Amino acid sequence: ETVLRLDGIQKTYNPGTVGAVHVLRGASLPIARGEVVALVAPSGSGKSTLLHIAGLLDTPDKGVVEIAGQDAGRLSDRARTAIRRAEVGFVYQFHHLLPEFSALENVMLPQQANGASARRARDRAMELLSRVGLGPRAGHRPAQLSGGEAQRVAFCRALANAPKLLLADEPTGNLDPATADQVFAVLMDIVRETGLSALIATHNMELAARMDRVVRLAEGQVAAEG
Ligand code: ADP
Ligand code: ADP
Repeated sequence: ETVLRLDGIQKTYNPGTVGAVHVLRGASLPIARGEVVALVAPSGSGKSTLLHIAGLLDTPDKGVVEIAGQDAGRLSDRARTAIRRAEVGFVYQFHHLLPEFSALENVMLPQQANGASARRARDRAMELLSRVGLGPRAGHRPAQLSGGEAQRVAFCRALANAPKLLLADEPTGNLDPATADQVFAVLMDIVRETGLSALIATHNMELAARMDRVVRLAEGQVAAEG
């Protein structure tokens, strides 16, 4: 089963002007169920654009994006948003947690936006936070957490709606090497346990080597690495 299929993706910013930037030039990538793929890409190569297109936050000029067998290009905006909410989890370099809310509430909110009751959302949030070792910190706001803890909360938030696909843009890039290693191990454990598929952008080749497959984005195309 293919959870994410990108086929012949093209994207140009400022088309038809002297400032045109052809970021993606026929990028293709299938990701199977349970497969964890490292995306290595120099900065400016279009990594964020590719992740946003894969997560239905941006649309390609040309090419096909399929998530769990559904062709996003054939769906209404409303249906695309529903798929994004239900099937895709995002993690960024910075946690982007809401500062006024506790860790627990930050993990509850996407579930409630997706129709879950407060009780159900709370139970699931507690379960996820406990799994990453943050049960005792559930009531803390982001400013009361260390960088590694806040990033673990961001993972829980990304996984709150039990998506099929995790998209991560340098998820440990803001942490010191020892914390990055630890937080990455927690992420991989939870991804493996849940059978999630993931596309994880990283500059860290040691982390990339611990994934199932490494691909490189260069000159607007995705190629197998090494
Ligand atoms: P990366 O994540 O690999 O650094 P991006 O996908 O953010 O790459 O950007 C790829 C290229 O496209 C860069 O040259 C960037 O300046 C350009 N770019 C990104 N977003 C826009 C935009 N909204 N308008 C114009 N150019 C953009
Ligand atoms: P790290 O192990 O990532 O270096 P810190 O030294 O920043 O973590 O924090 C150690 C512990 O203290 C963490 O468990 C964190 O939750 C807690 N802590 C850090 N800053 C605060 C704060 N402002 N308020 C409450 N607890 C905090």
